[in-house]
Amino acid sequence: MSELITNAAVLREAKKPLSFEELTIDTPQAGEVRIKLRSCGVCHTDYSLAKGILDHQPIPSVLGHEGSGVIIDVGPGVSNVKKGDHVVMAPIAPCGQCSRCLNQEGAYCEREEVRGWGILPDGRTPLKDKNGDGVAIGFNTGFYSDYSVVPSTAVAKIPKDVSFEIASLLGCAVVSGYGAVVNTAALQVGHSILIVGLGGVGLSAVMAAKLRGAYPIIGVDTNNERRELGMEIGCDQVMSAEDFNNINLSDFNGGFDSIIEASGAVPAIEKCMSLLRRHGICVYVGAAESTYELKIPHLELVATGKRLSGCLTGEVRPAVDLANLAKLYSAGRLPLDIFISNRRPLDELELAFDDLEKGIGLRTLIVWPEK
Ligand SMILES: [Zn+2]
Ligand SMILES: [Zn+2]
Repeated sequence: MSELITNAAVLREAKKPLSFEELTIDTPQAGEVRIKLRSCGVCHTDYSLAKGILDHQPIPSVLGHEGSGVIIDVGPGVSNVKKGDHVVMAPIAPCGQCSRCLNQEGAYCEREEVRGWGILPDGRTPLKDKNGDGVAIGFNTGFYSDYSVVPSTAVAKIPKDVSFEIASLLGCAVVSGYGAVVNTAALQVGHSILIVGLGGVGLSAVMAAKLRGAYPIIGVDTNNERRELGMEIGCDQVMSAEDFNNINLSDFNGGFDSIIEASGAVPAIEKCMSLLRRHGICVYVGAAESTYELKIPHLELVATGKRLSGCLTGEVRPAVDLANLAKLYSAGRLPLDIFISNRRPLDELELAFDDLEKGIGLRTLIVWPEK
């Protein structure tokens, strides 16, 4: 094992074009794996960071956090995967030993909280530029790069009949929607659910709600094509923004048991809280501008027991949820093929951001050839 050269898209300044550079990438250390990327989704969060709408990742950094690939090297002590395995990666690497991990809350692992963004758990970044300066791994992943080094606890092995393209979607969009429904809202059979925003996350939430036996499943989106997709994959009814603004709760038994806010549209968030039934839960996964602060009537929360929960990457337990999602897809239970609308090589990442900005399709994937 030795250092490798990796082609990467480096964010050196927000709102400026990405810099395509050759970086060196470390060998994996204890508990780490090195991966050859095969597919990485272009997520709205990457776009928002590149355009300066969000600013929670260090700069310079390599973004990209919805990836899949092949393990090419493993560091000492890694036992969950081996060289040659096909894997999907999560932006969270639970330590498995802290009190939160032991309480099945690994998405909020104490080690991960201390680690912050842009580095591996031992505090280093595996990437260096031609001057020898470190380049952060955005989201602790850095997948807009030919190779990546991540902790082995962030990866889950996928069966070889699941394509890299589908597998990459599992790591952010799919698990964020699925996890919001299954892990955070803990949706029960027969519960009503409103899903606001039918992008990759929202549509994944629809699929999970259907698997979980929710009724009715109501989807909201401004885009007609996405509403049609919502109906195709499991919504009982869909609404435009206007329908949503004029919603009559008496049609929905006085309010929803669960609401998933996946649009990140600022006015939608506060509206959602008013649409919950008593003790209902609103799971907030859409990301509005960094500076936005929510305004919610606090006494109503006390009087009604309504709950508002954040949800980081579907509160993913990588070894459990990502493996389950791959299994469900293999079995034909998750129609994830609808998500893939375009494929581009890494050097067309800016064009992929344009696809996203123009609302072309659901997901553009950055793909790498086998060799
Ligand atoms: Zn994402
Ligand atoms: Zn932990």
